[in-house]
Amino acid sequence: MKTVHDIADIKGKRILLRTDFDVPVGDDNVIQEPFRIAAQKAMIDHLVAQGAHVVLVAHISAIDSFGPIVDQLEKILGHSLKLLPEVSDVAGHTASSADVGLLDNVRRWDGEKDNDPEFAKGLAQGFDCYINNAFAVSHRGHASVVAITEHLPSYAGFVVEQEVKHLSEVIAAPSHGKVVIMGGAKASTKVPVVKQFMDKADAILVGGVIANDILKARGQDIGESTVDENLSELLEGLDIADPKLVIPHDFHWGEGKILDIGPESIKKFEAVISQAAMVIWNGPMGLFEDRRFALGTSSIARAIANSKATSILGGGDTIAAINQFGFAGSYTFVSTGGGAMLAFLGGEELPALKALHYYA
Ligand code: ADP
Ligand code: MG
Repeated sequence: MKTVHDIADIKGKRILLRTDFDVPVGDDNVIQEPFRIAAQKAMIDHLVAQGAHVVLVAHISAIDSFGPIVDQLEKILGHSLKLLPEVSDVAGHTASSADVGLLDNVRRWDGEKDNDPEFAKGLAQGFDCYINNAFAVSHRGHASVVAITEHLPSYAGFVVEQEVKHLSEVIAAPSHGKVVIMGGAKASTKVPVVKQFMDKADAILVGGVIANDILKARGQDIGESTVDENLSELLEGLDIADPKLVIPHDFHWGEGKILDIGPESIKKFEAVISQAAMVIWNGPMGLFEDRRFALGTSSIARAIANSKATSILGGGDTIAAINQFGFAGSYTFVSTGGGAMLAFLGGEELPALKALHYYA
């Protein structure tokens, strides 16, 4: 995989940079979690300092346009941005302006999700090269991360390079001493990781809705707790009786539902974490947004922060939780990828990494 370091002479080059600005935005148009945006700063700084002409391409799901948040993006990134409403504005911008350009929400065009070669060709117009710095989108077969690489010399940016380095170390690290913690709500994206690490880790600790799923499959009464519908399909091939799978055994209930792991389970999880050489964590243990059900998640976040283990974590809500509890900066590596991190760890080939020739 070629990286930014392989671009011979950055000065004066017209560079199309795929960034990841897909952040939660409140009704007041205030960015609620700037982590992903901040992670882009080093790459943009580097290219601008080297004298490149840069246009950013990114998507946002929470709102239709970057318009209402451009000033906040500028503040976080420390660069003034020129918002470009149309794909046809992009090529002209690089020729005429020194400002960093930002094409408005690339998912406004059907060609993006369709991985349309013509759309990608339009994006590539007027550029010398393309950099993918959006690891969190790299599990998508979209035009701005896949088809675009057919039209421009393409490179991995700092974020993609770092993500791949840390996440492949997770896969390569010895099984002994490795502890995987999976929680949260999107069980269908997490169970493949549990399966993948079953015989490549000392223990897999589960919380959140995944734990509910497994408890239900074991025949335990979990009342009105949230579970996935396609349980048997989801858990197929997973030995739910394997002692490596550490399931919570006491709970904090609310309105007939399991909404957090209980004090005995917290102690058990803390004990396992304290013995680990490497911890991988994705997904909160409970409904941490409500303070009454936050203790499981905050205790796990603290236990990992206090352990000597190499710690790798990710997931939008997991990151929100560590920031809320004041543990940001306490871990070895925080992934910008939620779904992409899980897909990578689950052993999938990520289409955008494939397009960068990551896989031999
Ligand atoms: P991440 O974004 O970190 O990958 P997910 O999106 O999969 O995590 O899940 C996070 C959500 O899961 C949070 O909103 C949290 O409140 C919810 N959650 C965790 N445990 C439970 C539970 N037992 N019941 C219902 N929701 C839960
Ligand atoms: Mg989430």
